Amino acid sequence: MTERYDAIVVGVGGMGSAAVADLAARGVDVLGLERYDIPHEMGSSHGNSRIIRRVQAERPAYVPLIDRAYERWHELEESVDERLLHRTGSIHASRAGEGAFEDARAACLEHDVEHEVLDAAALAERFPGYELPEEYMAVHQADGGFLDPEACIVAQVARAHANGAEIRARERVLDWRATADGVRVRTEKGTYAGDDLVVTAGAWAGATVPALRDVLVPERRVMAWLQPRHPSRFAPGTFPVFTVDTPRGHYYGFPVYDVPGFKFGRSPRLPEVVDPDEMSREPTIQEEELLRGFAEEYFPAGAGPTMRLKTCMITNSPDGDFVLDTLGGDENVHVAAGFSGNGFKFASVVGEVLADLVVDGESDLQLDAFSLDRF
Ligand SMILES: Cc1cc2nc3c(=O)[nH]c(=O)nc-3n(C[C@H](O)[C@H](O)[C@H](O)COP(=O)(O)OP(=O)(O)OC[C@H]3O[C@@H](n4cnc5c(N)ncnc54)[C@H](O)[C@@H]3O)c2cc1C
Repeated sequence: MTERYDAIVVGVGGMGSAAVADLAARGVDVLGLERYDIPHEMGSSHGNSRIIRRVQAERPAYVPLIDRAYERWHELEESVDERLLHRTGSIHASRAGEGAFEDARAACLEHDVEHEVLDAAALAERFPGYELPEEYMAVHQADGGFLDPEACIVAQVARAHANGAEIRARERVLDWRATADGVRVRTEKGTYAGDDLVVTAGAWAGATVPALRDVLVPERRVMAWLQPRHPSRFAPGTFPVFTVDTPRGHYYGFPVYDVPGFKFGRSPRLPEVVDPDEMSREPTIQEEELLRGFAEEYFPAGAGPTMRLKTCMITNSPDGDFVLDTLGGDENVHVAAGFSGNGFKFASVVGEVLADLVVDGESDLQLDAFSLDRF
């Protein structure tokens, strides 16, 4: 007998865990299927920290969505009685007149987001881990910080379980098809029927939904954790998360949390496209040297011995914006993918939107920018 559910969610990572939890909270009989463990290090939602802040320097249109995301993270924290969002403040910095600083300042002004402008000397005095060149300027947002992505996924799954969801890890979805009364999903272990299908398969979204195959591009990223030479300067209370544009490229970073190291990573200028099933998960010595070079120049007090290196994937759409939509022609198939290097902070609201699409067929939130037919 094929088991039947109101909704089946493919992929229980950052977005899928939120979707399963929100669906279960609304009384939907939901099955979540995950090919790896919960949580795991093979996709996009591992590495202990993800930046959250009101303004995306590069994408001001996301400000209304982020307000709701903050609310929903706080609700999740209350429901599991655990701190998931660590407020540290956030910095956007670059040379005056260009890049992250100007974009963030413009976005804060446009959206009336509280912020402060600091020059490099004021920044270093207030947050001594920062030793940026004197021509650098920074935007400080006090309510920026980071989420613990693995803890968020575990919390969403706990919430989903508490509301009766069924979640099965280590069960890869092989394929799915639309049927007269919904969808049929075939996995390595069985076949399930559902009224609705939600695809939150991250870097594998293109392999799961034909309409996304030529739209979404998975890319490899490397994160580094270095032992700080002055640990007190890199503690969550003294070191805001950052995005910094330098001649070496675009970098982001975090205070020491959970791993004994100052964590940071680089967003390469050119895409490093990968096949998620073939990608090497092992960082190279060259990648380590590139990352260390940045820390030695811009955060020398944080550039002690390497503690950890990890690879991760982001998934980009052609315009860099998310895909959050119901498939044209398949009104009971919903997709949330292409979350680039900015998506995790929105997972709490993405779960809500997906539950809206399944239960009501629409969402109150403005989703035009995320429609699939824009490509
Ligand atoms: C290095 C790095 C730094 C980042 N920094 C930030 C940041 O600071 N702030 C921020 O907001 N965002 C950041 N991001 C982006 C953010 O982490 C991602 O946008 C987000 O995690 C994507 O979530 P997801 O649910 O789409 O993917 P995932 O969490 O990877 O979930 C997809 C899930 O689907 C499962 N799956 C796939 N195919 C199948 C199948 N056939 N059957 C069953 N299961 C399947 C996968 O195993 C996986 O668990 C960063 C990303 C990276 C890589």
